[in-house]
Amino acid sequence: MILEIVKYGTPVLRQKGRPVGQITGEIRALAADMIETMREANGVGLAAQQVGVAAQLTVLEVEDTDDRPSTMSIAGKQVNLADYMPMVLVDPVLEVGKEKEDGTEGCLSFPEITAEIERSSWVKAKARLLDGRHIEFEATGLLARALQHETDHLNGILFIDRMKTATKIALKGKLKRLQRETQEG
Ligand code: ZN
Repeated sequence: MILEIVKYGTPVLRQKGRPVGQITGEIRALAADMIETMREANGVGLAAQQVGVAAQLTVLEVEDTDDRPSTMSIAGKQVNLADYMPMVLVDPVLEVGKEKEDGTEGCLSFPEITAEIERSSWVKAKARLLDGRHIEFEATGLLARALQHETDHLNGILFIDRMKTATKIALKGKLKRLQRETQEG
């Protein structure tokens, strides 16, 4: 089922997600709907908050494309990204590296807005998969960026909070308009 993606100005986007804990049938159904919704919107990630649920649950689908490559490693060994996609992460925790890089980001809750955002170029993620198994992996490139963007959502943090001041000033009018449109429904 395709869900409605809430836009900037919707209060749930600012809520920290509650831990999922036990993975119920309801959670599995929500994750399946989130994957369908993310694909339909051509996104690389979608957080539960973006479909109106404040929970520590996110879905990702990053492909190893040439222009924005990614790597994923488990226990120091590089794995094939496609084997893990689409990925559902339950209660994820991120460790981020010191080295940073700029990259273009968009967000399905901010239609038509993109900006250069500085993120760590390396992350380590610990989470559970939908079947309850624990996973721990390292990522670089677009996957590292997407993981940081999505786990931010799970904590009520939006990419506008990470923008350089000049960028945010330049987008001020657009952001105000979007917020107003959302609030007027
Ligand atoms: Zn987003």
